[in-house]
Amino acid sequence: MAKLRNVFSWSHSSAHAFESCRRKRYWSKYGAWGGWERNADPETRTAYRLNKMTNRFQQYGIAAEDSIMWMLKQVQAGTSPTPLEAYDTVARPLLRKTWDESKGKVWERVAKAGCLHEHYYPEFCNLDDRGLMHAMADVVKSCIENFHEHILPRLAHVTPEMEIPIRVVGKGDPEHFFFEWVKIYAIPDYVYREDGLLHILDWKAGAIKPEHAEQVALYALWAQVEHHIPPEEVRLSLEYLKFPERKLVPVDAEVLERVKERIRESVQDMAQYLVDADIEQNSALPKEEWDLSYDPDECRFCEFFELCRSELRRDMGPGFP
Ligand code: SF4
Repeated sequence: MAKLRNVFSWSHSSAHAFESCRRKRYWSKYGAWGGWERNADPETRTAYRLNKMTNRFQQYGIAAEDSIMWMLKQVQAGTSPTPLEAYDTVARPLLRKTWDESKGKVWERVAKAGCLHEHYYPEFCNLDDRGLMHAMADVVKSCIENFHEHILPRLAHVTPEMEIPIRVVGKGDPEHFFFEWVKIYAIPDYVYREDGLLHILDWKAGAIKPEHAEQVALYALWAQVEHHIPPEEVRLSLEYLKFPERKLVPVDAEVLERVKERIRESVQDMAQYLVDADIEQNSALPKEEWDLSYDPDECRFCEFFELCRSELRRDMGPGFP
């Protein structure tokens, strides 16, 4: 089998990781590469495993989003699922699997098994297991209930023929496009066509953040490049499930230009950490060139803390955990 190549790519989340901590980008994109190989060195293997780590906030999103997509399909099939059915059928087994794998440390044998940050780094978690379990169940249930009450009635008429299929994470190479020869990952949650418009919805199980508007604006570029749909025919909406609240994000040619400029600048910044700034070659500079975060809070929530711990202690003093 041909050897896999580590291709340079950009996404909203990778740009965010790079901006918050250079070393984090290093671990996730370069330090973890090849960690699945039998003969990988221990550091690479650890980085690969830690790169798969999840946390309760990500679990809220995954469990709630899978549940509401299941509800949409059920409605399209002519049934009327209740929020409790969605929780019991989709969310509960998913949360249970991650929880059991994490508590049972299955990740010691299977790198891709569920591993919760809260279990792995208990020193940074302010909840005990019971509190954690309740928090996960409560948030996911309320997201599903809010979706059922406030959003589903708006979407119940959407048929499978109106939907645009999206390649999701975990099933081959996820949704992406190329912009100026750079591979850009952009994975909208739900997309459908209606009355000459492309509706792009993004589910959010967490707090409202200003950067969400920037994230969904990227989807307008995806729509233009992948589906040849101009921005004036795109409707972007952020669907906050926990509150619930809907935010429409206006998009036009000017917004699209800002998105393009942001990608160009970010790619250029990332390239400075590559040998000869060559994104085609995509060879990382030595690890030491990728600065550690200056923000201890960033490290407390970071999956790669184990790999940085000794350097952080050296820089910040032994008081650092
Ligand atoms: S632990 Fe801190 S320094 Fe290390 S990758 Fe994470 S955020 Fe960066």
